[in-house]
Amino acid sequence: MARILTGIQASGKPHLGNILGAILPAVELSKNEKNESFLFIADLHSMTTVKDAQQLTENTQAVAAAWLACGFDTEKNYFYRQSRLAGYHTELMWYLNCLTPYPMLANAHSFKDKSDKLADVNAGLFTYPVLQAADIVLYQAEYVPVGKDQKQHLEMSKDIAAAFNRTYGDAFVLPEPKIDETVMTIPGIDGQKMSKSYGNYIDIFLPEKQLYKVIKKIVTDTTPLEEPKNPDTCNVFALYNLMASEEQVKEMRQNYEGGNYGYGHAKKALHELILEKFAKQRELYNYYMENLDELEAKLQEGERKAELIAKQTMETVRKLLGFIS
Ligand code: ATP
Ligand code: MG
Repeated sequence: MARILTGIQASGKPHLGNILGAILPAVELSKNEKNESFLFIADLHSMTTVKDAQQLTENTQAVAAAWLACGFDTEKNYFYRQSRLAGYHTELMWYLNCLTPYPMLANAHSFKDKSDKLADVNAGLFTYPVLQAADIVLYQAEYVPVGKDQKQHLEMSKDIAAAFNRTYGDAFVLPEPKIDETVMTIPGIDGQKMSKSYGNYIDIFLPEKQLYKVIKKIVTDTTPLEEPKNPDTCNVFALYNLMASEEQVKEMRQNYEGGNYGYGHAKKALHELILEKFAKQRELYNYYMENLDELEAKLQEGERKAELIAKQTMETVRKLLGFIS
């Protein structure tokens, strides 16, 4: 049996990038009888960017509802909030902090990228990969499916876990990233990586009209309606291409190249495609957001199950560290 772990931050509403890049592939893997999946909401990580308690709670609910809407089976698997097991996660993070070389963190692409873009460059952002390593090895995860943007972080997790094993003795399974090469980094409405914290995302669970408003904001060039357009440099086309059938993509390409087809038309087609593709998920998402008690009950049950494993790992770790005789 393979143990698989995936986390998503509660730094904003779950978006198309998260869904195509992480949630749907993780749900697929979790359906395999041979796999045991740990899916958690990284609400401690989100504190690096979200400083509003109400916002954090709402984002957490939205991310949890998205997992359930995409078909995650919480009975077979593990479903929990990092914050509810914070004692284990942050204690382990401290131990791992003391084994993590400073330059490893200073050279992280994601840190450099975020510190360029965000006004609040805090220590949490810097030590983010160490908490991530703790999240993973605490549950002895073997595989971590992630988008390409997380590849380096995963390499760091493995290095940090290996450093612990070398220094104190074997405590951790060394995690391997599982990167689906067919899923690219999905662009946001401004063409940069779609990210919750960059505010450039498409929340596919928005009510129809609001969703359309966001789609209308996708940045395009100013080629006039009559003229032919290059689909390969257009964000709208790129997003459409990720979800549409081969036939639909072919048709859209012809529309672009033929002229007399405006970006407004393409945006309308993208809106319709999202509504059609995610109809079932949108309905389920709304159900859970209106029945938060049910959502909460599933999380608490998951947290009870996850704690049993976290506790076991921490007992081994504390013994190896000489904290338990
Ligand atoms: P933040 O801006 O707070 O970092 P995020 O939108 O990048 O948020 P994360 O919670 O960091 O989302 O990542 C959750 C999962 O979603 C990861 O597996 C990550 O690889 C994947 N993911 C995030 N953004 C994209 C994207 N644009 N395309 C594909 N996968 C993505
Ligand atoms: Mg991210």
